[in-house]
Amino acid sequence: MRTIDAMRSYSSTLRQSGKTIAFVPTMGFLHEGHLSLMKKGRELADRVVVSIFVNPTQFGPSEDLAAYPRDEARDLEMVEATGVDAVFIPDAKQMYPEGFQTTISLKALPAHLCGLSRPGHFEGVATVVAKLLGIVRPHLAIFGEKDYQQLLVVRQMVRDLELNVDIIGAPIVREADGLAMSSRNMYLADDQRKAACSLYQALTESKKRVKAGEISADTIIASAEALIQAHPDTRIDYIAVCDPKTLDAVTAIDGPVLMAIAVKVGRARLIDNMILTPGT
Ligand code: AMP
Repeated sequence: MRTIDAMRSYSSTLRQSGKTIAFVPTMGFLHEGHLSLMKKGRELADRVVVSIFVNPTQFGPSEDLAAYPRDEARDLEMVEATGVDAVFIPDAKQMYPEGFQTTISLKALPAHLCGLSRPGHFEGVATVVAKLLGIVRPHLAIFGEKDYQQLLVVRQMVRDLELNVDIIGAPIVREADGLAMSSRNMYLADDQRKAACSLYQALTESKKRVKAGEISADTIIASAEALIQAHPDTRIDYIAVCDPKTLDAVTAIDGPVLMAIAVKVGRARLIDNMILTPGT
């Protein structure tokens, strides 16, 4: 479906017949990470709707909007093979017609991690997700823990605005070498691939150290930094150890914490994260 009207009437017909709808919003150029969310949707609801929309308002002026990879034909084959029932592919003109003027911004969550290096990003995300939820009207929507901060932002918005949809998180799907799957991995040249894996290595190494009794976030961050910087072509944006609910920085690791990393490898900005738990 390429129009908001078509999507709306599909969804209201389903609702009238008592069917439940799971929704998976994406920016396309799909991979197994996206498909895992769709499979989860199939388990949890009668019908699965996927959206493909490269949302311009969540990209900064110097980011990769124009270069963002797209392959609609391949995406459609993949969703079909995964048993998705409907795909919503709006264009930017429909989503942001002339005169559009409403945005949703959160006070605290975006003042951390990616929100600091990508000003306006989470406002773009929250606004487009609210709009998509209003069009698709799903019973539940599924988001990947790969974009952990995004998941928290969406949950908070849904709670604050009483949007009446269940937000479900799904685990990070990785390549065999540990690299978190991402549409942006296609920017990586062959010789940058090893450097890209250093995010996962730093996270697993940190997890081991915390399990073995290390409680200093500074120590954990310093060794992760050294591990990543040992690879050529890496530019660290942030390495953070923080509270998994508020994203506030943690100094002493005395309970589960979120370790989150953003690194530019060549022109690909990569993110990854892991929960570290003392003694486990
Ligand atoms: P995107 O197309 O990058 O906007 O991602 C669409 C959805 O897929 C978001 O909820 C992401 O968190 C999720 N996603 C992307 N990569 C992965 C991954 N490797 N594992 C699990 N979920 C993912």
